[in-house]
Amino acid sequence: MTTDTALSTVPFWVDGQPTASTGSREGQVTNSATGTVIRTVPFADARDVDLAVASACRAFPAWRATTPIRRARILMRFRNLLEQRKEDLAAIITEEHGKTLDDASGSVQRGLEVVEFATGIPHLLKGEHAEDVGAGVDSHTVRQPLGVCTGITPFNFPIMCPMWMVPVALACGNTFVLKPSEKDPSAAMMAAELLAEAGLPEGVFNVVHGDKETVEAILTHPDVAAVSFVGSTPVAKYVYETASAHGKRVQSLGGAKNHAVVLPDADCDAAADALIGAAYGSAGERCMAISAVVAVGDAGDTIVSKLAARATALEIGPGNRAGVEMGPLITRAHAEKVKEYVEAGEREGATLVVDGRGLTVEGYTGGHFIGPTLFDHVTQDMSIYTDEIFGPVLVVVRANSHREAIDLVNHSPYGNGTAVFTRSGAAARRFANEIQVGMVGVNVPIPVPMAFFSFGGWKSSLFGDLHMHGPDGVKFYTRTKVVTSRWPDRSDEVNLAMPTVE
Ligand code: NAD
Repeated sequence: MTTDTALSTVPFWVDGQPTASTGSREGQVTNSATGTVIRTVPFADARDVDLAVASACRAFPAWRATTPIRRARILMRFRNLLEQRKEDLAAIITEEHGKTLDDASGSVQRGLEVVEFATGIPHLLKGEHAEDVGAGVDSHTVRQPLGVCTGITPFNFPIMCPMWMVPVALACGNTFVLKPSEKDPSAAMMAAELLAEAGLPEGVFNVVHGDKETVEAILTHPDVAAVSFVGSTPVAKYVYETASAHGKRVQSLGGAKNHAVVLPDADCDAAADALIGAAYGSAGERCMAISAVVAVGDAGDTIVSKLAARATALEIGPGNRAGVEMGPLITRAHAEKVKEYVEAGEREGATLVVDGRGLTVEGYTGGHFIGPTLFDHVTQDMSIYTDEIFGPVLVVVRANSHREAIDLVNHSPYGNGTAVFTRSGAAARRFANEIQVGMVGVNVPIPVPMAFFSFGGWKSSLFGDLHMHGPDGVKFYTRTKVVTSRWPDRSDEVNLAMPTVE
């Protein structure tokens, strides 16, 4: 690994401006395509977290009192700035994460769409009203903000995952402290600058960087009302348990092993095209990536040969080079771990159809590259099947029937996304009905819901009750209150009996 001589430091964002850490711990941010360290990032300790939470606490009363339509107007300006700066944001994401510019730009777009959803907040906050719940008595509900909300996000979507949380939380009247991934923290800083430019009052949105110690300080802070987390399953479970034990409202999204079932009647060319993008896009570093294909009956040999032909034809290289379809992995250590899984797959007896380990990208010998890798005849006991590899490794499992395929998917401890490829409406309907997964695609490989639906998985892919953005997001970032009113037109008689409403 090489290091640039003059490294800049990514600051925190507190009280509406860049701020320095009070401590001395720090990490390094690497350009994934070259392997070069490009900047340093401070790791917040409990004191830094306290300063950010205090800023959010101070800003809360005035922001809560700002009318929803005014909050929405700030978000409308933020949305326009995101659109204007989309290419700059994509360039930062590509530099630090490695994904292609097109892919990075698409992820900014998906984040921007949550901002668009959140601008509808005056309508979304409307409650229920019932007249005459008793004689001369009416009831209505209101949705009110929680206070200081926090977000802890993964490396693979440095702007989109924060945007699943921040616009909805702010629109609902909360203030926010974000801890983005320390591996690619710069996109979140640009979001902070754009929110300030859009007119967001200081302290309403804050950013700290860091690691486990930083997260621990957030989860246990007495002034934090809610925690939204996205990341790997072990950390998601720990975050859910720790923050819940400290009285916070929590939604904690975890890892995945997403299956695509290809039925014998599927259009195998269309399915192969879809699966190549879903498996190898962003080098497989997507929580909704398809990492396991369940090929039913005769579909098996056909789909494997079509996948192999397409995988070997992919253009691999730095994400900012025109024509490149797949970039590097996030770190060297992660690339090595992915290679170890490929070795394990061979050892455990799977058929290695395409091996991406030997790939070299001219001029980028320090980059974290692995080519697309494809295994066939994988069984449910192999580590390449059981574990989330989070790299460009696609495994094909053979099944004899639709029933067997559904049972296999349902046996997985994960339940984030899944897809079925078929020409039969009845088969697709049965799949959608019986499958125990939160997001289901029918001939759609990556069924990420649009912003006005909610995003989230089942089982070990989500700890908590509510999914992110869409209607669940509004529910998560507000609490309801029922107001029961009587306006007597004569002085009340004193009555000590239990109130009833006939
Ligand atoms: P990660 O769990 O390592 O890190 C996520 C966040 O938690 C980061 O901000 C990190 O700094 C922090 N963190 C890491 N280790 C921690 C620890 N021991 N204690 C407390 N905090 C810790 O995940 P990652 O490698 O950044 O991201 C990849 C993972 O995220 C994959 O498992 C992927 O499936 C998952 N993911 C899930 C979704 C979803 O919607 N379910 C979306 C994107 C990514």
